[in-house]
Amino acid sequence: MPLPDAVLPSLLHGAFPGVMIGDKAIVGHGHRFEPRSPIDGQPTAQVGAAGLDDLDHAIDAADDAHASWRTVPAPRRGELVRRVGDLVRRHKAELAELITLEAGKIPAESAGEVQEWIDMCDFAVGVSRQLHGLTIASERPEHQLLEQWRPLGAIGVISAFNFPAAVWAWNAMLGLVCGDSIVWKPSEQTPLIALACHEMVRRAAAGFDEAPSAISCVVIGGADIGAALAADERLPLISATGSVAMGRKVAVTVGERLGRSLLELGGNNAMIVTPSADLEMAIRAIVFSAVGTCGQRCTSLRRLFVHRSIADKLVGRLEQAYASLSIGDPRTPGVLVGPLVNEPAYERMQASLRAAVAQGGKVVCGGERLTAGAPSGVYVQPAIVRMPEQTPILQEETFAPLLYVVEYDELEEAIELQNDVPQGLSSAIFTSDVREAGRFTGPAGSDCGISNVNIGTSGAEIGGAFGGEKDTGGGRESGSDSWKQYMRRATTTINYGSTLPLAQGIKFGE
Ligand code: NAD
Repeated sequence: MPLPDAVLPSLLHGAFPGVMIGDKAIVGHGHRFEPRSPIDGQPTAQVGAAGLDDLDHAIDAADDAHASWRTVPAPRRGELVRRVGDLVRRHKAELAELITLEAGKIPAESAGEVQEWIDMCDFAVGVSRQLHGLTIASERPEHQLLEQWRPLGAIGVISAFNFPAAVWAWNAMLGLVCGDSIVWKPSEQTPLIALACHEMVRRAAAGFDEAPSAISCVVIGGADIGAALAADERLPLISATGSVAMGRKVAVTVGERLGRSLLELGGNNAMIVTPSADLEMAIRAIVFSAVGTCGQRCTSLRRLFVHRSIADKLVGRLEQAYASLSIGDPRTPGVLVGPLVNEPAYERMQASLRAAVAQGGKVVCGGERLTAGAPSGVYVQPAIVRMPEQTPILQEETFAPLLYVVEYDELEEAIELQNDVPQGLSSAIFTSDVREAGRFTGPAGSDCGISNVNIGTSGAEIGGAFGGEKDTGGGRESGSDSWKQYMRRATTTINYGSTLPLAQGIKFGE
């Protein structure tokens, strides 16, 4: 299928560059590979992946770029990001097309992801004028005690396939206004959208004199490049998004060198539906959260705790809603569920279904492979399985449209079950009872980073801080005060008097 050339760099010797160091395009010294679209399993292009030496050069260049970028006034850095936002608005359709091609999302969700990037640009421009510090009362006469936020350095970003633009945008748009430069290792599944994202920054930086082009670098490669990025001492912060298994490795590597890591890892998200819930709203929210992006969002709904008195009715309605889902090539108008990313994802879904049945589960619907789409894409009927209790398979994140339903009697029991998994990303309750909502959002309620009332588990706005607890990694990105992670806090004491009083009233040699 034709690629949207207007947002991609030029081919070099028949391949897309796997390394972009600002405006320098390089066919990397790694292997040449062909990313495949989940839509039909066919190769989309050739990419010359980065080798370890390319990564080294990119980090060097980003480090140099940071040395001058950090001195540019923050509102001017915001002006660069404003220009990026203008370009993204102009090219929204082409960028969304690439997301659909490489991640298999339906166009509405791809456009939503690009919109999230635009929103991040606007947010970051605002932040660029609000990198506030503090003035603190000093205990000493004629002293000022200040807290300031200073640029951190070149930062490393590792991202997953399922949000191939937005996750980088959360990090990069804020990082840039904070005075950092960015070295990005995207998922090897989504190299073209990564090149297009970089291309927007490259074009915005061209002709913007204060911006050295290497403030944005991309190195396309696999886990080995990600691991080398995490280990590099020139990068004070590694922001890594992906599976818990990946995050554990990155955390150890970065921890060993006492670097800072920002981890956004897997979720195992739950919703509680109480007897007072508005069922029409709950059903819409459940379907979007469980089958949207074919169940491949970190915030996808995986566990549904339903009060016993309404369970049969709710599951019956869900079964009907699932039967009417249109599944297939995401580019076909009306399709709501696109493909799984690849064959292993399908095998993992089948393995989880088998485990659920072996643990006492009854399949209500779904799980079958469909041939509705192009021949080699992986299309599945989203599945619902009723479980007798929260069995071991419910402790795992299966990255597919597979929803487990468990009945409960008391709200406390449902909250306990919801929290009783290793992950802690997103959670929701559907209730019309303010007391139930209060218990869920209170200190003994949901232990997740995201706790919603009468909204599904997925589809967060950028204004809040995004992230989760426990195995989800503890990181917070995007809105609120997440920008602080891309800066270092400096405490500064200024003595404008002519004596030298010591803190705590210490007398030393007087
Ligand atoms: P993945 O863990 O397979 O890969 C993520 C990234 O990590 C890729 O760029 C990959 O090349 C890199 N990587 C893999 N091993 C590495 C290593 N040892 N060192 C350094 N880098 C390494 O994940 P995926 O399949 O691309 O994405 C799905 C997972 O991501 C799910 O678990 C999902 O929940 C999670 N995710 C989390 C969030 C969040 O914000 N919490 C957002 C999106 C996706």
